[in-house]
Amino acid sequence: MAECIFCKIAEKKVPSAIVYEDSSVMVFRSIKPLAPIHLLIIPKRHISSVNEIKEEDKDVILEMFLAAQKTAEKMGVKRSGYKLAVNVEKGGGQEVFHLHMHFLSGWEGEKDIDVPGMP
Ligand code: 5GP
Ligand code: ZN
Repeated sequence: MAECIFCKIAEKKVPSAIVYEDSSVMVFRSIKPLAPIHLLIIPKRHISSVNEIKEEDKDVILEMFLAAQKTAEKMGVKRSGYKLAVNVEKGGGQEVFHLHMHFLSGWEGEKDIDVPGMP
């Protein structure tokens, strides 16, 4: 989608700090981190929100979770833990209307993770 910032990031028309990518998904650092490790996992093709996911998107949704696993391994937090969060529509805190999963981690010795700014 022409005016979508995450489509531009997926097409590498806008630079980002890429942590992982394959043919269908990309993981990159959030520009405004709300945690020591704050990454965004996106499908490369445009889906605007959870509300727009269709049956034919099921493969890419699985790929997003597999990318989370691979990212956790790469960042060394697979066993210590991480939080995945999806904001849905404006009332749910969604500001960028290209589906994305927040990958949040990097706290040490915390069991209950409180993320400032996350609704
Ligand atoms: P939302 O509030 O839509 O769930 O989250 C949007 C996320 O995208 C936030 O973490 C925000 O910091 C991040 N973000 C917004 N614009 C950009 C950008 O141009 N580049 C990167 N790397 N992250 C962005
Ligand atoms: Zn998009």
